[in-house]
Amino acid sequence: MSELTLSCPDLGDFKDVAVIEVLVKPGDRVAIDTPLITLETDKATMDVPSTAAGEITALLVQKGSRISKGSPLARLRTEEGAASSPSGASATATAAPATAAVPAGAAAPGAAAAGSTAPSADAVSAGPAGPAARPGEASPATASSPPVAVRAETSAAEASATHRTQLLVLGAGPGGYTAAFRAADLGLQVVLVERWEQLGGVCLNVGCIPSKALLHAAKVIEDAHAMREHGIVFGEPQLNFDRLRTWKAGVVKRLTGGLSTLARQRGVRVLRGTGTFAGPHLLQLLPQNESSAGSESGKAESIYFEQCIVAAGSEAARLPFLPADPRIIDSTGALELPPAPGRMLVIGGGIIGLEMACVYEALGARIDVVELTGQLLPGCDPDLVRPLEKRIRARYGRILLDTRVTAAEATREGVRVHFQGKEVSDGLYDYVLVAVGRTPNGRRLEAERAGVRVDERGFIPTDRQMRTNVPHIFAIGDIAGQPMLAHKATHEGKVAAEVAAGQKSHFDARAIPAVAYTDPEVAWVGLTESAARAQGIAVERSSFPWAASGRSLSLGRDEGFTKLLFDASTHRLVGAGIVGTNAGELIAEATLAIEMGADAADIGLTVHAHPTLSETVAFAAEGYEGTLTDLYLPKKR
Ligand SMILES: Cc1cc2nc3c(=O)[nH]c(=O)nc-3n(C[C@H](O)[C@H](O)[C@H](O)COP(=O)(O)OP(=O)(O)OC[C@H]3O[C@@H](n4cnc5c(N)ncnc54)[C@H](O)[C@@H]3O)c2cc1C
Repeated sequence: MSELTLSCPDLGDFKDVAVIEVLVKPGDRVAIDTPLITLETDKATMDVPSTAAGEITALLVQKGSRISKGSPLARLRTEEGAASSPSGASATATAAPATAAVPAGAAAPGAAAAGSTAPSADAVSAGPAGPAARPGEASPATASSPPVAVRAETSAAEASATHRTQLLVLGAGPGGYTAAFRAADLGLQVVLVERWEQLGGVCLNVGCIPSKALLHAAKVIEDAHAMREHGIVFGEPQLNFDRLRTWKAGVVKRLTGGLSTLARQRGVRVLRGTGTFAGPHLLQLLPQNESSAGSESGKAESIYFEQCIVAAGSEAARLPFLPADPRIIDSTGALELPPAPGRMLVIGGGIIGLEMACVYEALGARIDVVELTGQLLPGCDPDLVRPLEKRIRARYGRILLDTRVTAAEATREGVRVHFQGKEVSDGLYDYVLVAVGRTPNGRRLEAERAGVRVDERGFIPTDRQMRTNVPHIFAIGDIAGQPMLAHKATHEGKVAAEVAAGQKSHFDARAIPAVAYTDPEVAWVGLTESAARAQGIAVERSSFPWAASGRSLSLGRDEGFTKLLFDASTHRLVGAGIVGTNAGELIAEATLAIEMGADAADIGLTVHAHPTLSETVAFAAEGYEGTLTDLYLPKKR
């Protein structure tokens, strides 16, 4: 018996990474590959497994520690005859986010799949070459076998599965349908499972798309109103909520219908029903309700899969102390446009809350916003929020920052809400919109039956190939972590599909843009100034005020600006923020520049069309370079 120190492996590009969970304690016996701690970088969450078997005698890290390559993690007393570290005195764990021992990829289910006993209509053809577990093969990342009893039970169930497929995608939101389509394009046989009637997930049905349709309606009302001052007077808008709902539903239907066609064209088989895991290669499919066409027979069915991509998304977070009352709604309820909004409280000053506030204000509601933190759009640089805040403070009722909702009572006159903060007087509202974030659906899938680790918040951690701790099961989109945005989900979906098909893809985006489609729009990407300051990263800033943009003035607006952040030593763009009309479109140029490693000269020397809002990106870069002529900026260097 000897003692050794387990230390942090090479983390590739990462150092000073946060420990978000410690999974062992002194006295625990661990095997090789038993996860010791969980690390979280801005790209992924990953487990660091033990490289030796034995008993943990001391922990050398704690939750919240920040560690880099070589940091000591734990002391371990090795067992007689057990495998130990290569060095003997010190063992460095391998950087292997997906190597925890799991009951996955074992031989039994594959044997059943290859045999003739399965009553399947969908014969499983040979899978593509790839690193993932294949029927009949042990997974390369599977270090230990699960208990025999579990395997025997699982393999019998797998053998009698109603459907069989090479790749199962669970959830047909932007992450899931993208993954399914990409995998089918790469030659995999794909089953896509969805509990809702229409494909498209939250984004298409009750998220991005219907909200943007209503925001467009709000913008038309606002633009018409704004032209009053410039000599064109329209009458008061006549609101027909039924027609507005029908139009919004039509936009959604057109897109979701299009997805069904795309699935058919690619041979992706769509099964309706609610899926939960029954084993590492088995999904149980329950019809959503009695009348569901879902699991087609209306009975529970099961699907045997070789590989699976979990794309089950998220749902609106709730405040449990609020009473159940039809006037207290979430974003889905708000998109239904309840009649006569009157006085409305929006709880949560994040993107979703402020977008819906924008819609309802244009439709005539008197809006109050309450936000727990000291800033609207938390996470965004405060200077970018200021023009939006100034505009809505002038138009809305109260904007309560640093304020908590403590209770609410449903009364005949309205919902009475109590606050705790600087301003504490109650409010009485016709509607209360709860927009306090979204909760991932990880805890609703019985993922533990497949051996898949779900963290305490309901996220499923993955590595950069989107593999969970079970190598043949991937997770993507909202369920795989922040930021919960549709474009992150689609890109992760492509990576997971490509890896499932045997390609060596990774999710390695340098920057993911975020957009609030408010009025004015606020968009940001890459490093923020606040994050740079907090992390001690030297950046230099250049901004261009839209009051000097001909295009912005001709749109009747002057409050926007474009801000670029450059690495102080390389002059490469590392972050950008834009506030103003169409900021959500303009941020694409900055995102591309960050991805391409463009510096200020690259951006400033790119010829931009005139007069456009996109010029403001080039002007900000010219300002940094000292070549700007559209403004007079005293020389800095
Ligand atoms: C009001 C609102 C506005 C938004 N606006 C934007 C925006 O402008 N831009 C942006 O990028 N993002 C926006 N988002 C966020 C965006 O909708 C999500 O990030 C995106 O939908 C996540 O995609 P996903 O594929 O991970 O999951 P989801 O879209 O949540 O899809 C998951 C799917 O899985 C299905 N499912 C879940 N569990 C099961 C199960 N057990 N069995 C079968 N099926 C299951 C669900 O029914 C759903 O269809 C908005 C969200 C909301 C609520």
